[in-house]
Amino acid sequence: MRVSALNIAHLKLATFLGLLGLVLNIYPIPLFANVQLILGNAAVVIVAILLGPWYALFTALFTATGLMLAWSSAHVYLVFLLEALWLGFARRRDFPILYASICYWLLLGLPLMGLYLWLITGMPTYHIPFTTVKQAFNGIFYTTLGELCVVALPSLWHLKDKLVNHTRRTMSAQLSYLFILITTISLLTSSLVFNHYFMDKQQVLINQNLNDTGISLGHATETYISTNTRTIASIGKFISVSGLPFEQWQLVLDSVQGLTPSFTTMFIANEDGDIVAGSPLEKLNQVKLLPQKVNVLDRDYFIQAFIHHNTFVSPVFIGRGLGKDIIIAISAPIFKEESKTAIGIVEGSLDLSYFSNIDKQNQHHETQSIILLDEKKNIVYASERLGLQPLTPFNYVTGSTEYRTRLQLMNINQEDTETPEYIYAHHKLKNGWHLYVVEPFVPLLTLAQEQYTKTIVLLLLSMVGAIIIAKAISRLTTTPLALLAQHFSQKKDGSINEEKFEHELLDNSTPKEIYSLYESLEANQQALLSYQLELEDKVKQRTMDLEIANRKLKDMAERDSLTNLYNRRYTEKQFLKIQDLCERGQDAIAVVLLDLDFFKKVNDTYGHLAGDECLRVMAEVLTSHFKRDVDLLCRYGGEEFVLILPMCNTLKVEQHLNGFREKLASVVITNPADQVTFSVTVSIGAIIADAAYSSTLEVWLKQADENLYKAKEQGRNCVICTLVTV
Ligand code: GH3
Ligand code: MG
Ligand code: MG
Repeated sequence: MRVSALNIAHLKLATFLGLLGLVLNIYPIPLFANVQLILGNAAVVIVAILLGPWYALFTALFTATGLMLAWSSAHVYLVFLLEALWLGFARRRDFPILYASICYWLLLGLPLMGLYLWLITGMPTYHIPFTTVKQAFNGIFYTTLGELCVVALPSLWHLKDKLVNHTRRTMSAQLSYLFILITTISLLTSSLVFNHYFMDKQQVLINQNLNDTGISLGHATETYISTNTRTIASIGKFISVSGLPFEQWQLVLDSVQGLTPSFTTMFIANEDGDIVAGSPLEKLNQVKLLPQKVNVLDRDYFIQAFIHHNTFVSPVFIGRGLGKDIIIAISAPIFKEESKTAIGIVEGSLDLSYFSNIDKQNQHHETQSIILLDEKKNIVYASERLGLQPLTPFNYVTGSTEYRTRLQLMNINQEDTETPEYIYAHHKLKNGWHLYVVEPFVPLLTLAQEQYTKTIVLLLLSMVGAIIIAKAISRLTTTPLALLAQHFSQKKDGSINEEKFEHELLDNSTPKEIYSLYESLEANQQALLSYQLELEDKVKQRTMDLEIANRKLKDMAERDSLTNLYNRRYTEKQFLKIQDLCERGQDAIAVVLLDLDFFKKVNDTYGHLAGDECLRVMAEVLTSHFKRDVDLLCRYGGEEFVLILPMCNTLKVEQHLNGFREKLASVVITNPADQVTFSVTVSIGAIIADAAYSSTLEVWLKQADENLYKAKEQGRNCVICTLVTV
């Protein structure tokens, strides 16, 4: 950013939007598991549209910091600062922001995100494509949101000195683009809301199922234990009450065998902890064969029953009595008849395989497994597929920072991985045992991913559809306008295809506004055309008037107003050309000076009007007598006239002048004032010479004047002509 180009107002706006984006990004909207919606980056898009790449980069520094705080991962700086620059530069080149964003994610964003997740986070590879595509769609979402914010807030698009388009876009293109923006944001929002709702319901359902299973299986377990506890207690009580001598205790066990299938073995120990009776009998016989006696004096179940007189259910442990299996022992005291003195205990080892029957009751929930723990949290039973061994302590970790759901999550085997293994429900049984019902998490995650992937594909298809529809609609809206514009511009050229135009525009489907626009334009054009014709007529008339006036002016400048002969100035100017032309052709020129005789007297006698009439007649006679186009007839001043006769016949000039003189003398002039008639004569001094004689009129006139003087001297009404040879 060049310092000189820094605009404080723009910097303030970029900072404000950056801070807003930072706050929004610190709290991304959680959707499901590790799917989060970030909206703060819309601020970067707004700045990119309004102010270009460098301000966008500045704003992105804030918004990326927000994401850094939320995700604790530095890759956000790389991905989102690059995005800001990309969008800013695209905007500078008039590239639509939405398309620029799609290009960015396809070309740079997705590969960068994928590489980062693969190399740095160690995310399972099957999960990477979904996570990156999800980020790309989030990018398109906030880009669309940002652009719509600019469109929706007039104060933003009227921002002073903001970036403007270099090229003017067609109305159809603008309409299509807006339509696509609105469709994209609507589709994205509705699909996100729908997916979120669906996943939420799914989670509630899973939770409910797990809890239901927990309650029913917990109940079955409790019943199993309590029934068997009662059985053992009853046997103890029966022996106590019946007062059977201990030699007959074996008979009791033999008789209950078969009635108590829940116990794998049963035995009775005497007050010394020695086993004195057992079932099945073969096991007892095996024990009896052992070199040393099996004594259970130190066992909890013996102590609890014999010393504390309790009916006792043990935690899980390895038996020592009639076998060395993993067992749960249930024991009850045997009292001396009618007294409180214990004389032995009866013990039953529960058949642990029964729990797998309980597990099997749950077969309709195929994906669920159970873990039954004793009060010491050692495993009594675990579904086979979990691979957990009885008697081992149950270790697990709960919670995950990456995956946020409303479910309880745990990892049993892979404690260090970020992906949760199981969703679980926990129930504490009445006897202090624990029942965990678990279900794998990955299927739910896969379901969510499938759901989002389907949505994304659907979204892409909808966008393509939207683009096609948008183009069609905007064409429908703008075609009449374009036709109208074309029609009126064509009219200007004169190449009109009226029939086609009327067919396409002037049917009933044409919008009212367009049709009335057409009518008013048509009316205006007609008015303009007639005005133009009127104007053209006026201009023609004015031009003609001007030409006449010009001609008049020219005449006034060149001719004498009384006689309409050329004036002195024109003659002097024209002489130069005539002389030059004749000199080239080696022609002769005659310069003649004429002066009316006693003109003062005419004035004095007949009045000034008669004098003027006299001058006019003189001019008429001159014009009728000297008829060649090349002859130049001039009123030189007062009653003096000059004739310039180029290319003249030197021998005939004098004769022709005398002819004139006589003609004038014979003309009867009528005084316009009193109709009195009179006539005048003229004295003529002429010089005929080769054009080379002189290029100055004065030289010629001087000689002619001398001759005129002579003519006056000689009594007037005569011609003195000199032929000068050079
Ligand atoms: P001359 O035979 O010696 O030439 O005698 P003249 O009377 O013609 O002599 P002069 O040159 O002295 O007189 C010229 C007169 O022409 C004087 C003037 O009153 C008259 N005049 C000059 N211009 C005009 C004009 O435009 N109209 C009328 N009516 N008279 C004019
Ligand atoms: Mg005179
Ligand atoms: Mg005169």
